[in-house]
Amino acid sequence: MFCEYISKTGPEFRCERPRVKKRDGTFARFCTIHRKLASDQWRANREAERAQRDTRAEAFNLALLDAHNAGRLAGDACKPEPMKIRGFEPIEGGICGFAWVSIWPRNCTLANHCKKVGWSSGSTMGVSLWVSLYGQSYERKTAYADAFAKSLAADTAELCPKASIHGAGNVD
Ligand SMILES: [Zn+2]
Repeated sequence: MFCEYISKTGPEFRCERPRVKKRDGTFARFCTIHRKLASDQWRANREAERAQRDTRAEAFNLALLDAHNAGRLAGDACKPEPMKIRGFEPIEGGICGFAWVSIWPRNCTLANHCKKVGWSSGSTMGVSLWVSLYGQSYERKTAYADAFAKSLAADTAELCPKASIHGAGNVD
């Protein structure tokens, strides 16, 4: 039983050393030398992948922070017309409602990252972030969600081109 190693770089080379016999009596794919080489390569690949994942996660976190800031700017700038109900004090934030940011598909790299940092994935809204700022003001919450979504989409377009990101809201 020969080692399965075939050189991919240099001239064609087939190893003719015997495969390593494992403890359970079966044979490994490679001889001692190429088994070591293969495991070193595997480890190096894994480390490179991990480093790449870390860099990507960092970029996503920065993009989320950016998006939050963009959302704050838009939400703060939005001045809804106070809602007047006869016999009551006018409601400063205008009509009541809620808003959220959603990412589709649920399993793109960005969505997976957002799940890890606490976004919800159990709803029909994709992987989503509930807007908790601005009390019950539908308009300000929606302004936040839209600006958040736009900023996040712009910042992650290259890192996760599959992601479709939208802000949405609903009145109570
Ligand atoms: Zn070999």
